[in-house]
Amino acid sequence: MSEKIKPAIEGGTPVRDTKLYYGHQYIDDADVAAVEKVLRSDFLTCGPEIDKLEKRLCDLTGAKHAVVCANGTAALHIAAMAAGIGEGDELITTPITFAASANCALYCGGKPVFADINPETYNIDPAKVEEKITSRTKAVVAVDFTGQAVELDRLTKLCKEKGIVLIEDGAHSIGTKYNGVPVGSIADMTTFSFHPVKTVTGGEGGAVLTNSDEYYEKLKLARSHGITRDAKLMEHEIDGPWYYEMVDLGYNYRMTDIQAALISSQLDKLELFKARRSEIVKRYNKAFAKIPQIFVQKEIPESDTTRHLYILRIKPETLTIDRKRFFEALGAENICGNVHYIPVYTFPHYERLGYKKGLCPNAEKLYNEIISLPLYYSLTDKDVDDVIAAVTKICAYYAK
Ligand SMILES: *Cc1c(COP(=O)(O)O)cnc(C)c1O
Repeated sequence: MSEKIKPAIEGGTPVRDTKLYYGHQYIDDADVAAVEKVLRSDFLTCGPEIDKLEKRLCDLTGAKHAVVCANGTAALHIAAMAAGIGEGDELITTPITFAASANCALYCGGKPVFADINPETYNIDPAKVEEKITSRTKAVVAVDFTGQAVELDRLTKLCKEKGIVLIEDGAHSIGTKYNGVPVGSIADMTTFSFHPVKTVTGGEGGAVLTNSDEYYEKLKLARSHGITRDAKLMEHEIDGPWYYEMVDLGYNYRMTDIQAALISSQLDKLELFKARRSEIVKRYNKAFAKIPQIFVQKEIPESDTTRHLYILRIKPETLTIDRKRFFEALGAENICGNVHYIPVYTFPHYERLGYKKGLCPNAEKLYNEIISLPLYYSLTDKDVDDVIAAVTKICAYYAK
């Protein structure tokens, strides 16, 4: 390819005619058949597909228990409830995440505390977590950003020493292993999301994985109104065969059997999804490592990653344009990116709670330099080449 081809945003020809988005679900005939089967069955919710999926998630991760629920946000909420977050308790998390990772503390009357990221892996920095621990710290929500596992050896050790509950937000990382052990069986609790942009989808859906019997009971209660039919958990005398008790305040965070069947069917393809996503990441990394204007995300050897997101990071000091203009230039080439994430504490709601810009400089710097590129199972090699061609063209044209 010759240098200095005119980008589409300057009046040149786009690398492709049709738009490419950053994420897309992959649904095949087996998925459709699995959903149809449930629709024609007796149970649309609270049925056998729920037990089947929970068992499946235990088999996949090696966790003792799985509690599936309405979505990844509900999973974080019930995990925070099970961890005992209450008024005034602090929960440490990363600013480079979806708001729900921090909001789960607010739902419980607790206070999110933000610890800065490692500037190369973009995951929460365990040293920064340690600095933020106070006598009020009850939990850490560590997010496997892009699918790469957080530094679980350091975080599990730190949390154990300090008596803090480690919740791993694995919304990006289903299928990832850390030192050969699947995400889901390592932290005290691990949450998954099955939103359509995630690696495996149920339309909506979530799950909490845990090895703890105590958390398991609390999670089940929180998911379903705090209601139990288990005599062991009841406080009053059993009135009759119909009797159940509400022993705590919970929610209706249940998943439907329709969603569960779709997720089980999608899990049949997890290895395929993982392999294709890895291939695409390798192609991107190989191409971008040669471009001086791009920083390639560091991968830690401990994480055998199922990659959810590919983050293009520009080095603004090497370019005549900023991230916003780069994003627009990519869009003109018909490559429609996204930005993951806006640092959570900079949102107006958090601002009103007293959080201020400047809290986590590495996260704020990252935010100004990133664009999420297309990464999903059904991307073709031609699609990937188009993305690479567009990035290469823009970098060459605007290089300082
Ligand atoms: C998607 C996501 C969530 C929330 O999951 P939903 O299923 O959309 O509620 C939480 N944390 C992270 C890191 C996510 O990417």
